[in-house]
Amino acid sequence: MSYLPEPFRIKMVEPIKLIDKKARESAIKTAGYNLFNLRAEDVFIDMLTDSGTGSMSQFQWAAIMTGDESYAGAKSFFRFKEAMDNIFAFEFFVPTHQGRAAENILVNILVKPGQFIPSNMHFDTTEGNIRARNAIPINLVNGQAYNPENLDPFKGNMDLQKLREFIISTGAENIPFGTITITNNAGGGQPVSLENIHQVADLYHEFGILFFIDACRFAENAYFIKQREPGYQHKSILSIAQEIFNTADGAWMSAKKDALVNIGGFLAVRDESLYHKICNELILREGFISYGGLAGRDLDAIAVGLYEGLEEDYLAYRVGQTAYLADKLSEAGIPIMHPAGGHAVYIDAGKMMPHIPPGQFPGQTLAVALYVEGAVRGVEIGSVMFAHPDPTTGQMVYPKLELVRLAIPRRVYTQSHLDYVVQTAKTVFDQRTKYKGFEFTYAPELMRHFTARFKPL
Ligand SMILES: *Cc1c(COP(=O)(O)O)cnc(C)c1O
Repeated sequence: MSYLPEPFRIKMVEPIKLIDKKARESAIKTAGYNLFNLRAEDVFIDMLTDSGTGSMSQFQWAAIMTGDESYAGAKSFFRFKEAMDNIFAFEFFVPTHQGRAAENILVNILVKPGQFIPSNMHFDTTEGNIRARNAIPINLVNGQAYNPENLDPFKGNMDLQKLREFIISTGAENIPFGTITITNNAGGGQPVSLENIHQVADLYHEFGILFFIDACRFAENAYFIKQREPGYQHKSILSIAQEIFNTADGAWMSAKKDALVNIGGFLAVRDESLYHKICNELILREGFISYGGLAGRDLDAIAVGLYEGLEEDYLAYRVGQTAYLADKLSEAGIPIMHPAGGHAVYIDAGKMMPHIPPGQFPGQTLAVALYVEGAVRGVEIGSVMFAHPDPTTGQMVYPKLELVRLAIPRRVYTQSHLDYVVQTAKTVFDQRTKYKGFEFTYAPELMRHFTARFKPL
């Protein structure tokens, strides 16, 4: 396989330092073995997330200088609106400071305690917002999604049969809205096909259920559609995106992903009365409707970034970089999720360290090891993040996969940075049987991975 070099050159640099192993061991201990608690300066290659960690282009920085900081009706808002109307084409939208702010507003307006929200797979903040409302997130992704060896091109697709059965057995009146996450972050950054998006939309609509898209990585998803789905090879990425959003009643997005900015998001809908309710919540929690918790300059950076994120040579490089890391890890014998997703490579920690049971957190163990060996920071996506007591039986329910996600910030690291990550992972892999698991010393009830603390077993 050949890989495209970065379609940009570097005009400004940010130094990074590799602290020695003793210092790393001490840093991770002080952090309670939670990588979120590390000081960023103690990390060499930071793959904790691709969220808000990208580099902005010269055009975005130039746009920042044109930001209009008027409280209401700023020019920046209308430049943002022009991009929103062109790409997403929902009748109404509001800016928010992040994706989760949009989720919070939507869930507070639409969801009552005890109701159910189906998705292919909910991301952690979506799940957290729904659970915080005492409602129940349901994951109905197709069965192949849980098989790391399966090479299906659209492993993010929803299982339509399961969705239909779920709606019938639950009753549409208990489902305030349905959603789908593109790409499927919690399931390996795997794309959803346009055929599946159409079918999911039709199914929700057949039962009168509103359909929302969690659009964080819509451009990467659109690129996969162009590459992999019959009939889309000659369509532009923009027109594929337009077709995706045309199926939905609304969408929300963390602009910190495919809009190539460091902060921002939006919530968009077609229904006017819903929009008015959203405005009330927004003003209460985020800010006025033309800035929604952002500065005017942030809106300008998003307006430019949304288009840059749709550029095909950028997307080819982006998806190619992820494939490069996946291929090199695979060649080293390290078990990963196949095929490579859009924004990250997911190491199968459950498979790599089968001697550690889910309750002792194999993913967390691997993530800590990668830091100690090479100051590489990834994130556990497994039992720390998703294990929870069953609401009726109280028994612990463990997720099907124990993963460590190595997310790739956009336009930040070069191929030799990725080679270093592979080298670090190989060192850990070669001594994988020596690692022991962890237990909690502190764990909050919701979204505990952010603030939990651990001790080694
Ligand atoms: C990042 C993300 C969110 C939340 O967005 P924030 O900007 O981090 O609040 C929601 N859904 C998915 C799929 C995400 O990747």
